[in-house]
Amino acid sequence: MVNLTFYGGVNEIGGNKILLEDKDTKILIDFGMSYGHKAIFFDDFLRPRTSGGLSDFLRCGLVPDLNGVYREDLLLSIGRERADPNIDGVLLSHAHLDHAAYISFLHEKIPVYCGETCKMILEALQEAGSRDFETEILSFKARPDTRKNPEIQRKFETFRTGKSFMIGNCEITPVHVDHSIPGDYAFLIRTSEGTVAYTSDLRTHGSRPDMTEDFIQVATKSEPVALISEGTRINEMKPDAGEVGVRDGCASAVENAEGLVVADFNFKDVDRFHTFESIAKENDRKLAVSLKDAFFLKYLSSDPQLGLPKPDSSDIIVVPPRVKTGQYLESDYTVAERQFISNANCMRADELLKRQDEIVACLGYFEMNTIADMKPSHGSLYVYSSSEAFNEEMVLDHKRLRRWTDFLHMRYCESHASGHASGMDIMQMIKRIKPETVFPIHTESPGSFEGTAKTVVRVETGIQYPVSRKPT
Ligand SMILES: [Zn+2]
Ligand SMILES: [Zn+2]
Repeated sequence: MVNLTFYGGVNEIGGNKILLEDKDTKILIDFGMSYGHKAIFFDDFLRPRTSGGLSDFLRCGLVPDLNGVYREDLLLSIGRERADPNIDGVLLSHAHLDHAAYISFLHEKIPVYCGETCKMILEALQEAGSRDFETEILSFKARPDTRKNPEIQRKFETFRTGKSFMIGNCEITPVHVDHSIPGDYAFLIRTSEGTVAYTSDLRTHGSRPDMTEDFIQVATKSEPVALISEGTRINEMKPDAGEVGVRDGCASAVENAEGLVVADFNFKDVDRFHTFESIAKENDRKLAVSLKDAFFLKYLSSDPQLGLPKPDSSDIIVVPPRVKTGQYLESDYTVAERQFISNANCMRADELLKRQDEIVACLGYFEMNTIADMKPSHGSLYVYSSSEAFNEEMVLDHKRLRRWTDFLHMRYCESHASGHASGMDIMQMIKRIKPETVFPIHTESPGSFEGTAKTVVRVETGIQYPVSRKPT
């Protein structure tokens, strides 16, 4: 008997948390944070309390109430007994927090399986110091006394595409897929009832459609009994212009810009980095990146396939934020940050003021003070190339961003390509793979999957769905 239970990603975009059970084998597929669900109860100032351990998360349904899953210190925090884990492994598809964040709460003895590049991104995030209670994915210190307690490393096993491995009695084959972050993998899980395929987040209009095509082909061959499919944009039927469209959408604006050019995009989107890298080169400009993004380059430049510069490369400039004393003293920065501060390519905003027409600054909303320090001159441009606002807070932030660009007299343009396949592409993918059953997740419109397969399950949270050769 094989069962699937969905604890996140149900009628919402992100927060995937899926339990697959095959006889004695129990596998979690992703264990991410549900941004939408969390925003129902919390915001930047009203947050789940770290001091409460898991209690606020459990109360509001941000994590499921399961036995044999969570860290011992967190169990004690909610008055439960210590317990050994009864999960054989976590399959982590990619490093976006809506898939990875709540691995932070899992018992350290549960091994996490992910791609090599995914692990590097998690290392970069950890060293950049952006970890907190909800992003202690690689390691953590037992609460409540994190000063005295030693660092506990979680067990990670990394894979490359096509290299199969076993978890309990299931054979797993990870297959690379294209998305807005490198190191993203779909999975084929061979269970005693046949293959269960999981798409992760994917697209076919990015720079590497061949990778997604690899998955579709391998999945089709496996004749899956079930396909767990993302459907972020299931209702969007128009074809996507992809990265070429992004380039076309802003290249001439950058060419016509006179002062500063700001490119606001998610730095983990390596395709977007390369798009702006080549636009910058064509306009005799250099990319200037934030200090926090230098950590990302430090780790990912070691993957030759990604073609990223090292953080001390003379091809880029690293811009430190103005913090603490405001004097840009070495002591103003964390020990980890200091490795970049003394490099020859590190330049302050006030130093860049006179050279603003020589750079494309990869900065965004949260670095607006730094951008203002550069005093954008007449003819400066702000290119917004991040995902569209999908909740009220993001809409408010975006309004504020536009007020800033107006205030700084910067021209503004938008150019973006989604990390997710259009509805048309998802439907074509399912028709080719021909699964017996489809479980739509990571979507607000599961009903739009009707007709894509013999059975389409309208998933509900916490319900156990049997998977078998003959659908029941
Ligand atoms: Zn996602
Ligand atoms: Zn994603």
